[in-house]
Parts: sequence; C-alpha cells; structure tokens
Amino acid sequence: MVLGVASLATCGIVASLIGGVAGMQPEATLPKPAPMRNITWGKLNILQTTDTHGWLAGHLHEPQYSADWGDYISFVHHMQQEADRRGVDLLVIDTGDRIEGNGLYEGTTPKGGFLYDIYRQLEVDLLTTGNHELYLMEAVDNEYNIMVPNFKNNYIASNTNYRMVNGSDLKNDRGELVPMAPRYRKFETKHQKAEIVAFGFIFNFPKANKTNSYVQYVEATIMEPWFQEAMQENPDLFIVTGHIGLAMSEFKDTIYHAIRKHHPRTPIMFLGGHVHQRDARLYDDRAFGIAGGRYFETVGWVSINWPDAPSLRLRDAEKLTFTRRYIDTNLLSFYHHTGLSGEAFETERGKNTTQMITNARKAMDLEKLYGCAPKTYWMERAPYGHEDNVHTLLTNTIVPEIIVNPERADIPHVIFFNSGAIRFDIFKGRFTRDSALIATPFSNVFKYLPDVPYRLAKAVYDILADWETHFPGKKRPYIMFTGISECVQQALQESPVSPETMASLAKRYHGQVPLNGDGEHEGSELTEGYTTSDDFGDDGDDTVHRGFDTYPTPPMMQSRIGIPENEELEVVDVVFIDFLWEVVIEALNKAKYDRIESGLPRLSYNTSGLNEDNIKLYGDGRFDQMLTSWVSKHWPC
Ligand SMILES: [Zn+2]
Repeated sequence: MVLGVASLATCGIVASLIGGVAGMQPEATLPKPAPMRNITWGKLNILQTTDTHGWLAGHLHEPQYSADWGDYISFVHHMQQEADRRGVDLLVIDTGDRIEGNGLYEGTTPKGGFLYDIYRQLEVDLLTTGNHELYLMEAVDNEYNIMVPNFKNNYIASNTNYRMVNGSDLKNDRGELVPMAPRYRKFETKHQKAEIVAFGFIFNFPKANKTNSYVQYVEATIMEPWFQEAMQENPDLFIVTGHIGLAMSEFKDTIYHAIRKHHPRTPIMFLGGHVHQRDARLYDDRAFGIAGGRYFETVGWVSINWPDAPSLRLRDAEKLTFTRRYIDTNLLSFYHHTGLSGEAFETERGKNTTQMITNARKAMDLEKLYGCAPKTYWMERAPYGHEDNVHTLLTNTIVPEIIVNPERADIPHVIFFNSGAIRFDIFKGRFTRDSALIATPFSNVFKYLPDVPYRLAKAVYDILADWETHFPGKKRPYIMFTGISECVQQALQESPVSPETMASLAKRYHGQVPLNGDGEHEGSELTEGYTTSDDFGDDGDDTVHRGFDTYPTPPMMQSRIGIPENEELEVVDVVFIDFLWEVVIEALNKAKYDRIESGLPRLSYNTSGLNEDNIKLYGDGRFDQMLTSWVSKHWPC
C-alpha cells in the first residue's frame, strides 16, 4: 500500500469552497479540510458504492459525508477522463441496498417516487440486488420494471429471480420465475482490452422467497449449467459483485472455491457489501475483495496493476498489485483526487442531478421542521445509559411520555421495544421530516397485556435481553434485531457465518481506537471519522481521521413507569411494540415455567388464545407520529 499524505493539497481547494460552493444540497454543511492519502492508479480501477439506502442527498448534518449523488456523478466523470488520459480502465460498480433508510426514498407513497430517476443519472458498469430491494413486492417490481431496464445488461442477477405474479395472492399464484437480470456478463475493457467475466450475487436470503422474488442458494447456483459454462471461459479477470460481506462464506468459501477449482491462477476481484463496514480482504495473492461501507458515506476505490510488458495479459502476469482506498463522500475528497475544484469540478449532468435532488426534497417537503435537537444523540458512539445515547433518551424520556393510555395511565406498566425502533443518530439542530424518516421508518403501534403478575413481567426483560441463555439452541427471532447493526446481525442470522468470524468482525470495527502515535498528524486538526483496519493495515481511509469508540447496543429496551425500584408489586401492564407480541408471550410462558422448575410458587397468567388481532392497543397513535409530535413540543428551535 502506498501512503501519500498530502495535507497541503486541500488548502487551495478550501479557498474555492469558501469562495462559492458548487454542488451539495443547500442544507448540507461544508466539509473541513484534513490530511489526505492519495489514491493509486492501476491498469484496472474500480469505484464502488454499496448500501446507499437512499442517502443520495448526502448527509446534511455530517460534513464529512455531505456530497450528493450529483457531486459523485461529476467525480466519476473526471475520474473517467483521467483514466482515458492514462490509457487505463475504470469501472463503476454498485452492490445493492439502494433503498430504505432515507427521506429521499421513504418520502413518497408509494416509496421511491423520485429515487430511481435520480440514481439512473449515473452510468454504472455493474450492479446487483441487495436484500432491501426484496422485502416488499412493490420494491421487487421496481427493480424488475425500472432498475433493470434502466441499466440493461449492466444489471446482473446470478441468483435472484423475479416472480411474475398476477394479483396479490402469492400463496395460490406461484407465477412464473424469470431471472431478475442476466446471470453473468462477459465484456472487454476499453483501454487494456482485458476480458472480464462478471457475476452478481446476493447472500443466501430465504426471506425473499416469500414475495415476488426468489433467491437461489449460492451453493445451488454454482451447480447451474450456465455457471459451469461460464467456468469454461478463460478471462483475464473474474469480477464477483455481490450483496455479501467479504467474510461471509458465500464469497470466501462457495464462490471462491467454485472459481479456483477451474481457474487456480486467474485473478478474482470481489466487490461486496451488506455488513455496512469498510473492509478489504486478500483471499489469496490473486484474489482481492473490497466493500465500501454504507449510507453513501464511502466510495470504495480499488486498483489492480501488473507489469508493463508487450502483450502481457492480466491473467498471465506473475505479479499483481492491488491497492484500496475508502473515499469519504465529500467535495474536498472529490476535489483532492481529481485535482479540480469549484466550477471546474462540476459537470452539467452532476449539477442537474443535484438540482433534481433539491427539487425532489422540496416536493416531498423533507425540510418541514418539527423542532431542533438540543444536542446530538448517538446510536453507538455513546454507551447505552449515557445521556448522549439515543436509546437512553428514548427509554428514559420519550417513550414514557408518548406511549400513554389515558384509561390505564395510573396502573404501573413496563414498556418493551427493540433497539431497532431508532435506526440512526439524531444530530444537534434541525429535526425535519427527513430526520424523522431517517430515525424511524416504523409506523408501528403499541399493544398491551393487562394485569400481568409483576414477578413474571420482571422476568420478561431478562429473557428477551438474553435470549440465547434462556432458549439454548433456539435462534433469536429476527425481529429482535435491527438498527444500525441490522445488516451485521442479519448476516449472523441468515448466512452461515461462524461466531468466530462475527466476533473478529466486531472486534475489527467496534474495537477501533483513536488514531495516535502517528507523529506527522499529532496536534493537527483531525476530524472525527473512520479509522479502518483491514487485511492491508490501517491506512485505507483517504482522510486521516481521529477515530471514535463505539459501544454495543442491547437488543431490547424497557421503560418502567410507576414501578418503584425496590418494591414488589402485585400486577403491572406489559406494553410492547406490536410486532413483538409473539416473543413477549413466549417469554411470559418461559418465566412461568422457570418458576415451577425452580420450585417457586406457581403464578398464573393465561396467554392461550391471544393473537395479533385480539391483543388490545395501548394508546392509539403510531410511533413515528408520536415521536414527531414529541419533538415539536419539547425541542423548540
Ligand atoms: Zn444494507
């Protein structure tokens, strides 16, 4: 890895930023200059986005990720020109989860009214499907009817299928299955004439099969005749794009070995995603993988180089060099790597796309103001229990105030909800319709069980919080996960990732410590941001950042109202976010059983016959609406 710190290079650019900002959304904050590491160009280069989740307007509250999709389009244009000038190739790749998570997608009914047109302004060479594209029928339809035609043969679906459903009765209308898009793609690069065979996978995702999509397991896919045919090719390079974490077995075991069986020496480039972490791995000295993070915070950069020799093909080159860079999505980063700034940087198409985003945000009224947060509340950067933690705010203050049933308000109650009720940090300052859609997509209601023996209710939290101990060998229900680490946890649930792998992944990212001991940067004004450590070391981020600590979030939260700390009550109401009804009942039954097992007096609470429909509402508001009305009342600007 070549480390080139060019802190001075940004200074001239800052002047042009201050002189007149081109690009970005009008509400976004200017990025701050910081020491930068350069990118290394190779003969073949790749820019990758993944898990953008609708954040195409950029992060309006976070200056280091404040560039928008229009700015990225300008960036890609200049990088393509630079590649042409050098006579090398540049491919633009996206590995899925383009929707769900931001007002720009969530703000219309049906969702995504503006997003697809904005996204398509970028020319993408290879793209594939993420799990979020497959949760809802309308989203699957949009992939098949909008995204695939928009990107024609560049959209690859090696194991994703579309089901032609007539009507909405999925059970009776199994419909015809067709490939979502072509299974693989063969092409030759523009300058180096490298022959490429490219795939587009998604991890083993059985949940998709309940909608109008069908994901074939990767293990079965590689047995298909078309895959075996592809293995008869003799390309210079295999590119495996996938909505798959680099450490997940679909990549590192199944697909890697399937290719290596036929091609022990052909270079393989894996482009992954899904786990929302910056990552790069070396599978062997000719197989490399990168994943470019999440929420359009990062543009991944990879270069492959091989020696200059007349007519030496990539596949025959003895020595290959891979480099990687995680580019922070802001104008200063884009300016730094292109050497252009201001007007010279902006392209017509980029400018128009920025304007499209502004217009869309206006049409959806995403800047509608509910209030102003007095400070920033973190998901993971402050520990649960700390006043700066968003879940502390939720359990101690907001939930007890908004989840109210006037008829039962005097009865002591405990409210259970999962930490995924909030899915992103809340930043100091303007709390808008966009902030609300980012913070919580859930239009859930709260329900309750009346007069539950307190000793049982008390045990429910412990059981839900520590499911594995109380139900050994029984998989924790997926609904108990979500939030910022949703994808990591989902990977754990739905993919054959070993606990060791997950533990090392967690250590790798959550044990990140502030950068220090680097004499060159001591005392300089580093901005807070990612300090990624991967198979190549800890110099992958393009911006030299001050790191931050992250803390694990418990999966379950509880608010106790009217329950004195050291007092034993007779009965309480058990209140919970509606989709938890089954696990709450399961935990209650377990608590009853545990008492009997321990020889304690039997406590009865009859749960038989209770179901989703006959459990009563507690209060009558939707969580997202109550949250915004709480903000309006308590956070004046
Ligand atoms: Zn994702």
